[in-house]
Amino acid sequence: MTTFLPLAEKALRRETPTREELLQVLRSSDEELMDLVAAAFRVRLRYFERRVKLNYLVNVKSGLCPEDCFYCSQRLGSEAEIVKYTWLKPEQTREAASHGVRAGATRVCLVASGRGPTDRDVARLAPAIEGIKAEYPGVEVCACLGLLSDGQADRLREAGADAYNHNLNTSEERYADICTTHEFADRVSTVEQAKHAGLSPCSGLIAGMRESDDDLVDALFALRELEPDSVPVNFLMPFEGTPLEGTWELTPQRCLRILAAARFVFPDVEVRLAGGREIHLRSLQPLALHIANSIFLGDYLTSEGQEGRADLEMIADAGFTVQGAGEPTLPGERHDLLRTRQRGAGTALPPNA
Ligand code: SF4
Repeated sequence: MTTFLPLAEKALRRETPTREELLQVLRSSDEELMDLVAAAFRVRLRYFERRVKLNYLVNVKSGLCPEDCFYCSQRLGSEAEIVKYTWLKPEQTREAASHGVRAGATRVCLVASGRGPTDRDVARLAPAIEGIKAEYPGVEVCACLGLLSDGQADRLREAGADAYNHNLNTSEERYADICTTHEFADRVSTVEQAKHAGLSPCSGLIAGMRESDDDLVDALFALRELEPDSVPVNFLMPFEGTPLEGTWELTPQRCLRILAAARFVFPDVEVRLAGGREIHLRSLQPLALHIANSIFLGDYLTSEGQEGRADLEMIADAGFTVQGAGEPTLPGERHDLLRTRQRGAGTALPPNA
């Protein structure tokens, strides 16, 4: 029987696990599952205590996308029976966001389908961001609009956006198996642009798309290089009418192992239990709260989630508390990682070389 405590100790020291250690997590047995959850819980507890951050999705433009991401119900040629509409008006976006905020969400994620926004799209979203920030100053706004062009991240930041989401989704090696209309490198570049503009980087993955354990580890390591502040872990929702329809390969136990691997790679980063949790984790969702410190409340972009009230009851029943507006998500100690240089050029101390 493997003990995962050394891995937890390593995470508490903020040391990145090795590939072999992560493969051991992903390949661990059902008999070892509770030990694994307990080890990941130690890390979660240390950095995030019992807080659960609630995020609320607003799909500001739904469907009609020219890209072909195989997992997506909004892709080109998708026959999934989803609601389709073009950009919501700023007032509609603000109104939709307010439902999530009133239910306890401290981050609103404004998501638009499409390869990426035009400058006009960014300009039309700006008043919605400004409106939400004016009404709920303690609430974070994250934009998720696809691939960014020069200057767009800066304009979103100027409008008041706090964060930008763009998921890597899978490993670089497998990227062409899940999308042919853009590349892995395009996604990396967009996250970098958002970071440089001062937006908090949010980037995660989708599990259950026929990837191997090694692919998952590759994806986690690629995400690690981006140094995200939040990492959504999605579990594939295999919509009918998309190329991945009928791909049901995840079990609740497998989902917990994937979340634990993410937690060990990102000990002090927000690990978000994202799309697909209800259908794949099912009755084991409360166990996942012992690993992830953040969830989406309510519905997803094109599918319905668990009732918001059931989410809140689940959080309370499992002994967790909802993170309040204005309460920081990331642990303060994390800032110790950034130390101003006090040696080398301009100082009396020798350089670090
Ligand atoms: S994931 Fe985004 S870019 Fe890809 S098909 Fe869906 S909406 Fe379009």
